[in-house]
Amino acid sequence: MSTLPPIPDLGDDEIAALRERYRVERERRIRPDGSAQYRRAQGRFGYYAEDPYADPDFTRGPLRDRVDAVVLGGGFGGLCAGARLRQAGLERIRIVEKGGDFGGTWYWNRYPGIHCDIESHVYLPLLEEVGHVPKWKYAPGEEIRQHAMAIGRTFDLYRDACFQTGIVELRWDDGEWVVRTDRDDEMRATYVVVSNGTLDHPKLPAIPGIETFTGHTFHTSRWDYAYTGGSPDGGLSGLADKRVAIIGTGATAIQVVPHVARDAAQLHVFQRTPSSVDVRDNRPTDPRWADSLRPGWHARRRENFQAVVTGEHVDEDLVDDAWTRSAHVLGKIISSDARADWGPEAWERAEELLDFDKMNRLRARVERVVDDPATADLLKPWYRYGCKRPTFSDEYLQAFNRPNVALVDTADHGGVERFTERSLVVGDAEYEVDCVIFATGFEVGKSDVLTGRLPVRGRDGRNLQQHWRSSGVRTLHGVCSSGFPNLFQLGSVQNAPSVNFAHVLDEQAIHVGEVIAEARRRGVERVEPTPEAEEAWAATIESTSPERARFDAECTPGYYNNEGDARGRRTYGRGPAAFQRLLREWRTGDGIDEVLGDAG
Ligand code: NDP
Repeated sequence: MSTLPPIPDLGDDEIAALRERYRVERERRIRPDGSAQYRRAQGRFGYYAEDPYADPDFTRGPLRDRVDAVVLGGGFGGLCAGARLRQAGLERIRIVEKGGDFGGTWYWNRYPGIHCDIESHVYLPLLEEVGHVPKWKYAPGEEIRQHAMAIGRTFDLYRDACFQTGIVELRWDDGEWVVRTDRDDEMRATYVVVSNGTLDHPKLPAIPGIETFTGHTFHTSRWDYAYTGGSPDGGLSGLADKRVAIIGTGATAIQVVPHVARDAAQLHVFQRTPSSVDVRDNRPTDPRWADSLRPGWHARRRENFQAVVTGEHVDEDLVDDAWTRSAHVLGKIISSDARADWGPEAWERAEELLDFDKMNRLRARVERVVDDPATADLLKPWYRYGCKRPTFSDEYLQAFNRPNVALVDTADHGGVERFTERSLVVGDAEYEVDCVIFATGFEVGKSDVLTGRLPVRGRDGRNLQQHWRSSGVRTLHGVCSSGFPNLFQLGSVQNAPSVNFAHVLDEQAIHVGEVIAEARRRGVERVEPTPEAEEAWAATIESTSPERARFDAECTPGYYNNEGDARGRRTYGRGPAAFQRLLREWRTGDGIDEVLGDAG
């Protein structure tokens, strides 16, 4: 497994042409307004984010009580935090969640075709604890949502949960947190864990005239089955006489388009940047394999997947799918000895050649599958693998062979240019439709704490957001901050990202659970890093980040690189496996004293 895949033999002319094509395609798509091209689904557009599943008449009286921990967010991050705090021995754990139940992104997203895009056996957390083996290699959304609810039951997290509730303020007061909510609660908690913002809030492109459109519209994360008919399994009979537009061609659209293509009278897919679409090959889980699993299988498998996709050495690729095979092709499976032997320049060149080769294969797949050469050309992605989230489907490209489906390229116009009462406009062309579905994604990695929407006041009335604005985001390991005792954050800040984000969140939750367990063992009441520890972590992040920053800067725009402006992104560059090892060693060594210094 540690041998380098054969390096493709591309001529200098071809390499130069590919580099130039990538540059040109990136330039075509860069918008001066960057992230400001999107608007939050709120105010006038708030209905795009309304909860179609919860009871609109739900009421309850305000809570004035004391719990051991409040967890903000009931998605996989919050559920893992709840489970790990339970394992740490906490009794009263209150998850506060805006939605009507657990599930987070899997609560909101129920669009037709919804499936896990990472193998479910490594994506779903706490499988062994709950006693579940996913039924499919890539599980449908409903099975995932049911698993989230099962975690809630297994760890008795429903008992104290508050649904349909938003936290509006966190304030440190006299040795504990005061948590205020939009239902007038004022709870007190020893610990607070914030875990929202991963794929939280739908975003809309600020396309002029959007409010004048008189047809039907909705966002994929609030699928309107009352209008379309059918279910996440398809059968959208309400679209049989409808002309439908889908805006966006990211990971969500890849799953939605085949269903709408099958059922709508007419479908126009408005594309700005094509996704890379690799094979999916979904299949039911072999029951004999499920029966053969031994305790510890889940952690072993998920660590193995993480190692493979981030270039760590493994003896066997357990998941063996298009994610991991791409990692092999891209030469990520290479021993550090070989990397060191080659030197950085030769290594980077080899990596680029392997990347060109991988993308050439994906472009060739488009050509093989899509009948119309002009459409096939538009569907070819011209950027490096991993610039955008890779996607996988055995139905998406095929949908463009249907006579009722058309692709509209918007790349030279910065996207859909404007709406009229009945149509969407791109260049000189107008497309009259009955319904517009926004598959335009989410605010990613923007927790309410990070954005300042949730005011946080720590020791001595210190305001977290003002503190970070003046001196930059400061954390130890992305998890806790000086001046804000017993406050923990899960998410993407100052740690190591991975394509399997549920795994990242669970590792953070395990970390928080073990730190709290140790604090309780030692009788330490306040868990809080020293400013020096934060400083040292900021320096580690700074010194390991640049490699990815350069890669991002050359990528086509998208949320992975902050719409082409990658400056703000700072992560731990040695990868998630190294990060998790670092945390483990820190917890079991002297490191943990950095946050447990005060036994008072
Ligand atoms: P994305 O942000 O990935 O995609 C949004 C799409 O909308 C892009 O194609 C974007 O084009 C397009 N777009 C935005 N504005 C315009 C405009 N004005 N005109 C035309 N097109 C526009 O959102 P998704 O919902 O697809 O995916 C978000 C993330 O959710 C994924 O990356 C993945 O992490 C996760 N996901 C996970 C799944 C799973 O199974 N685990 C399944 C689905 C999603 P452009 O690229 O040019 O910006």
